[in-house]
Amino acid sequence: MTTHDLINPATGAAFGSVEHVDAAAVDDAVGRAQAAQRRWVRSAPAARASALRDFAAAVDAHVDELAALEVSNAGHPVSAAEWEAGHVRDVLQFYAASPERLSGQQIPVAGGLDVTFHEPLGVVGIITPWNFPMPIAAWGFAPALAAGNAVLIKPAEWTPLTTIRLAELAVHAGLDPDLLQVLPGPGAEVGERLVTHPGVAKVVFTGSTVTGTRVLAAAAPGVKRVTLELGGKSANIVFADCDLEQAAATAPYGVFDNAGQDCCARSRILVQASVYDRFMELLEPAVAGVVVGDPASRDTEMGPLVSRPHWEKVASYVPDDAPVAFRGRAPDGPGFWFPPTVLTPARDDRCVTEEIFGPVVTVLPFEDEADAVALANDTVYGLSGSIWTDDLSRALRMSRAVEAGNLSVNSHSSVRFNTPFGGFKQSGLGRELGPDAPLAFTDTKNVFIAVKEK
Ligand code: ADP
Repeated sequence: MTTHDLINPATGAAFGSVEHVDAAAVDDAVGRAQAAQRRWVRSAPAARASALRDFAAAVDAHVDELAALEVSNAGHPVSAAEWEAGHVRDVLQFYAASPERLSGQQIPVAGGLDVTFHEPLGVVGIITPWNFPMPIAAWGFAPALAAGNAVLIKPAEWTPLTTIRLAELAVHAGLDPDLLQVLPGPGAEVGERLVTHPGVAKVVFTGSTVTGTRVLAAAAPGVKRVTLELGGKSANIVFADCDLEQAAATAPYGVFDNAGQDCCARSRILVQASVYDRFMELLEPAVAGVVVGDPASRDTEMGPLVSRPHWEKVASYVPDDAPVAFRGRAPDGPGFWFPPTVLTPARDDRCVTEEIFGPVVTVLPFEDEADAVALANDTVYGLSGSIWTDDLSRALRMSRAVEAGNLSVNSHSSVRFNTPFGGFKQSGLGRELGPDAPLAFTDTKNVFIAVKEK
């Protein structure tokens, strides 16, 4: 084991540490998880449902504590962190119904009875990123446990604390300690061992597209099941016929939420040319109004970036000669602060084509619907997007034409626990959340039972 310091992004100072495990500890954890999974799946469906409800209740009783950890560890504004902890509770409650509802089919065939079973996969590995540690862990572990699996989670190096605490709360709620285990450590060692270990049946990975492709390749020799949630460069498409005031007022929220460290961030605003100037006039005060500061304050809307290396990456997209239209305010250091920044670059600039994952948004004009579709789809990504229009037919045409897994019309909402979430193109593979999520943690077995004629 090695000790890894944790840095508070708002101050830049170390505030704690975590013990990293190694590849041998992964092997040990897999063995214990396999045994726990066999016990779990033998227990009655009602008992599993009840255990997940108790886990949800334990999370509910610790929302404030979990939120405080995320404020210090990830720099999330406290109100956002409370929402995230509450979201974990909601996700657990939603999937707590699944152990008693996950049913197969009886299919009419000649000569006997044909039935399907949704068999749990066994041990599931979940590799999470640092941007939304709690929700993303829960999107994996709640439906995976509900479908009868054991779970091993490797949190991101910078933000392990809430994941560790959630697993402790599961034990307090009565779950077998080996059923949901956390393995803090480096991606290249602990993450890779999870992906390649023959005892891990499925990997759910959320992170960058570059690392996601490595995970996919490493999973291939074992024909391992894989779900990937990767990057995004989503469009916020503003038509002249929309409520322009509302579109401009909400655009900062659509991209600067979580300081832009959000794969669903609407980081490319596309505005119909006829209203471009008016939109920019409305956007400037909206950006200036974003309250950036102490994440522990209830007034704060945007905190710091997660780390110094990430700050440097974001800053590289805004060099001194960058086409900055305007900026909001952010505290000076210490801490990894970056002001909300609006750029008006050329269509092929790297800040338009690459995921920045920070509070930087580009604004481009477009001529008509066809131009808007071409611009919106001119990306390797396809995670989310917003369409602002008061024309219902246009909203429907655009919703079908934009290549993305999660679209919102006159809204920036992407994530609800009861609706499916995932990406087109290089934004991902498979879906999380929604009513079918537990099925993604099962293999379907078909059984035919011959019936003798009398
Ligand atoms: P970032 O570059 O923003 O840190 P990554 O996509 O590299 O994002 O990381 C997301 C998660 O993947 C983290 O938990 C990280 O430790 C893990 N990870 C990194 N490299 C690998 C790898 N080769 N195999 C498995 N997991 C990895």
